[in-house]
Amino acid sequence: MIRKILIANRGEIALRIVRACRELGIRTLAVYSEADEQSLHVQLADEAICIGPAAGNESYLRADRILSAAEVADVDAIHPGYGFLSENAEFAEQCESCNITFIGPKSETISQMGDKAKARETVANAGVPIIPGSEGALENDIIATKFAQKIGFPVIIKAVAGGGGRGMRIAHNAVTFAKEFQSARLEATKAFGNGSLYIEKYLANPRHIEFQILADRHGSVIHLGERDCSVQRRHQKVIEESPSPFLDKSLRNRMGKAAIKAAIASEYINAGTVEFLVDEKGKFYFIEMNTRIQVEHGVTEEATGIDLIKEQIQIASGNRLSMAQKEVVMAKHAIECRICAENPAMGFIPSPGRIGLYYAPGGHGVRVDSHVYGGYTVSPHYDSMICKLISYGRTRKIALDRMYRALSEYIIRGIDTNIEFLKAVILDPAFRQGEATTSYVEEFLSRAPKDLFDKKNQE
Ligand code: ADP
Repeated sequence: MIRKILIANRGEIALRIVRACRELGIRTLAVYSEADEQSLHVQLADEAICIGPAAGNESYLRADRILSAAEVADVDAIHPGYGFLSENAEFAEQCESCNITFIGPKSETISQMGDKAKARETVANAGVPIIPGSEGALENDIIATKFAQKIGFPVIIKAVAGGGGRGMRIAHNAVTFAKEFQSARLEATKAFGNGSLYIEKYLANPRHIEFQILADRHGSVIHLGERDCSVQRRHQKVIEESPSPFLDKSLRNRMGKAAIKAAIASEYINAGTVEFLVDEKGKFYFIEMNTRIQVEHGVTEEATGIDLIKEQIQIASGNRLSMAQKEVVMAKHAIECRICAENPAMGFIPSPGRIGLYYAPGGHGVRVDSHVYGGYTVSPHYDSMICKLISYGRTRKIALDRMYRALSEYIIRGIDTNIEFLKAVILDPAFRQGEATTSYVEEFLSRAPKDLFDKKNQE
């Protein structure tokens, strides 16, 4: 039985986990860096232990310090959230060997699916369509160039250990390929300590559609429908929604079945996400599996009414899934905007600092997942996302109108944010008509009025 959980993360996801535990009557231990002492998750957890200085590699990435805190506080389980150690197979294994339940899949599954080239092979063997590309990593740029010529340009060069859009480059012809390959290798080595690369055919204007999976230890695997995450900037998601405006029932069924096949092929247990790219004709291809809770899990929760963090904890406790596939209904439409401390007028550069006046939106159909408040200082050490604003309602139009209303209510003074940018997208006819593909943001910015992000328009 799980009585106490250590939350090996920070920010809004740490707070989200504290809240789920409270409702389940489970005690929580927050671990935090010196920069996060004032964060809401630290204040709301039952216990808190400081594990080091602000830098991630001195605190949230220090498995030894986290496991010591777990030992001292005598916890039964660790929830890793997303990012940091959440997809680190070695950390999951260390938890397993310390007899602490890691709230996530088995360490073998994390390594198998964390290697994106291996993941492609695993799901392809199970009959899930993948994008034409290399089998495994490519040794050097000469071999890679030959392969790219064989499958035809444009191609996308990706890091085997990749994540967060890093270590990824598009090459349009053989002349630029070698240079792109080298720079992808450098970036991947720096970001992941692993410079292995593979290539895929680059699809023109696809949609990014992913399926939420739940699997228990008793052999049940279900999906909770899709999230459309096509609105991206530099391959990073900005707006997500569920259901996708593009999918019909038949395509949803086929993709859901493929996602379940991918989960079964990796002997998946707990919550996971199977990501696909979909072309304009509805042909879909697996790109990767994320073996953890996703940032955007809240849209699935609001669309289906299922609490994913609680399900994760129940599964890790050895319980059966609380619902069968036929009981999963996407009864609502939900949309999420990632609110970031950044300045769109200056190329979206991060804008850390102290928040002055702060007023978060509320009301019917609005959910605010955030660890910040008036007087809180946004640290330059971490990701710039400060809030996930979710709106939901019976139809997509209701959810969109509600999102615009909620964004308009939001007051965050003292730092710059992307709120005006998000408002402009929510009003944009192309987005409203459900036409956004992964090239949408670039295209939108190229036609947006020059003064859109001027300060005077934001006050
Ligand atoms: P990461 O793990 O770094 O997030 P993904 O493999 O999930 O990388 O891809 C992130 C995004 O990059 C996708 O949502 C899509 O916008 C783009 N992308 C990835 N692979 C391709 C491809 N083969 N063709 C076109 N776009 C791609």
